[in-house]
Amino acid sequence: MENRLYTSQTSPKGVDCKTIFPDTPCFCTHRYKQHKPGFGVIPKERPIKLPCRAPNCKCESYHYVPLCCTSPIRCHCKHTADEHAEYGNLVCKKAGCTKCTGFKSSYTCGCGAPVSQHTMTVETAEERSARGHTVTEHSPYIVVGGKTG
Ligand SMILES: [Zn+2]
Ligand SMILES: [Zn+2]
Ligand SMILES: [Zn+2]
Ligand SMILES: [Zn+2]
Ligand SMILES: [Zn+2]
Repeated sequence: MENRLYTSQTSPKGVDCKTIFPDTPCFCTHRYKQHKPGFGVIPKERPIKLPCRAPNCKCESYHYVPLCCTSPIRCHCKHTADEHAEYGNLVCKKAGCTKCTGFKSSYTCGCGAPVSQHTMTVETAEERSARGHTVTEHSPYIVVGGKTG
């Protein structure tokens, strides 16, 4: 439990817009719990990468894509997230789609900033409290965003 990581999607202003739970799907369509669950020793480099462990999935690190009204949000190229490569630059795999330079959506988050400007934050309890966010005993933590400290 000491090495537990806290994962959230953070707005450009440092607000946690989305808390990632074990069942929260990744861009690669697999769930958070199918990604690397933790580390014996927390890596020094940031951001911490949480690669997917599902067979044949090349997802390099968990990244959340919000759903809008139960349907997935779309890229500028008009295709959905699961039609894009789950690794590298996240370019579109759809035949005939040549304009895509990597999944990017203009979908606006509840905080007012476009989702594309948000970052995945994977952090230790220490780093999390240093940012002024609540750390709880429970995994995953219960407190959701809205606090800038
Ligand atoms: Zn993934
Ligand atoms: Zn995956
Ligand atoms: Zn496309
Ligand atoms: Zn695209
Ligand atoms: Zn947001």
